[in-house]
Amino acid sequence: MALVIINTLLKTWLDGIDFKSRQGKHIALSQIYLSLKNSFYTGRFEYPVNNGIWYAGKHEPLITQALFDEAQKKLATYPKSKWGAKQIIFKGLFRCGRCKSNMIGEERFRKRKVYEQRRHVYYHCARPLGGCKEPYIDEEKLIKQILRFINFMNIAHPGFLKLEVISKPLLSSPRKRGSIYIDSVSSTE
Ligand SMILES: [Zn+2]
Repeated sequence: MALVIINTLLKTWLDGIDFKSRQGKHIALSQIYLSLKNSFYTGRFEYPVNNGIWYAGKHEPLITQALFDEAQKKLATYPKSKWGAKQIIFKGLFRCGRCKSNMIGEERFRKRKVYEQRRHVYYHCARPLGGCKEPYIDEEKLIKQILRFINFMNIAHPGFLKLEVISKPLLSSPRKRGSIYIDSVSSTE
C-alpha cells in the first residue's frame, strides 16, 4: 500500500472521530507522517537523530517496537528491484522551479556503523553547470513538501486533487502525467 494512501486513510479516520491537537485543530497529513516515523512512542528514542545511539525513555510506551517496525516497512516500501535497478519514485515528474529544466533523481548509499547502509535519493536540476543555482533536495524532504501541499489543497480546494495508486506503465500516458503521483510504483508483494 502506498505511503499517501495510508496517511490519507488515517487522516480520514482521525477527522471522522474528530480527533484534535492541543490547539484544537485537526491533525495535518504531514503531522501524521512525522508521528508515524517517531520512535518515541515505542519508549525508545535516538539522539541525535540518525546517529545510531538509542536511549530507553522513562515514559510508558504507547506501541510495541514490532508495530513500529511494521509501520516503517509500510512507510518506505521500495519494491525490491531486479538486477539492482534504481527506484526513483518521482523520476521524470518534476521540473526545476527556477529554470524549468528536468529534475534528475540520484540514489546514494551512506554507510552506517551499526545498521545496514542507509539509502538516500536526491533530486537536482539537470543544469547545475549551466548556471542554475537551485540546490539538491532530499526525497524525504520532497515527500514532506508534497504532503504539505496536498494537505493545503485538501483544505483550500476540497476535491481538487485526486490521489490514486497507478502502475508504472500508466505513467507514460500524457494525461496521467498532468497530475501529481506520490507513490507511482505499485508494490510487487
Ligand atoms: Zn534549474
